[in-house]
Amino acid sequence: MKKIVIATQNKGKAKDFETLLSPLGYEVLTLRDVAKDLDIEETGTTFEANAILKAEGVAKELGIPVIADDSGLEIDALGGEPGVYSARYAGGDKSDEANIVKVLEKLSDVPDGERTARFRCVLAVAAPGEQTQTFAGACEGEILRLRRGEHGFGYDPIFYVPAQERAMAELEPAEKAAISHRGQALNKLKQAMPEWLK
Ligand code: IMP
Repeated sequence: MKKIVIATQNKGKAKDFETLLSPLGYEVLTLRDVAKDLDIEETGTTFEANAILKAEGVAKELGIPVIADDSGLEIDALGGEPGVYSARYAGGDKSDEANIVKVLEKLSDVPDGERTARFRCVLAVAAPGEQTQTFAGACEGEILRLRRGEHGFGYDPIFYVPAQERAMAELEPAEKAAISHRGQALNKLKQAMPEWLK
């Protein structure tokens, strides 16, 4: 099996990437496998800036080509929050459950129809001595009032996907891969850099 390194410590993202890349014959390795203690600080104010920071930081440190993912949830009624702060919205311990509670509380008075949101993902591909490239994807939806479904990670249980008539966490992993922000960004990467994902 071919190996590919995704610059993340996030188990949920790693699972998404396994679903996306194992059909192409790749074994997905993450920082948990190759550089457990490497933590690149995400000081950027955009998904793109943070994806580049992570990809270039890890490629330089390990001397190998990597893909980094920076992603998050943008809620229109909150002016785009939590955005790049999605992982740590409720505090530094990056708890998915605490983040969901915070979003549901902030939206408690927001009526149905005004709860529109989207997941965004930017993938950055970096290799030592090469120009870094980025690819973006977005998935539109609405914020539910109650959690639904057992799959996925992060905000998936409160993210309703109108096109699927289900919450993201109610989709099977392969169904999520087919429509998600991450799947869309990876498709663009595949088309633009076929030598990367043969
Ligand atoms: P990052 O590791 O800084 O890119 O943070 C990403 C955060 O955005 C995650 O911890 C989740 O809270 C949220 N997020 C990104 N993609 C997804 C997804 O596919 N489903 C649910 N939440 C997501």
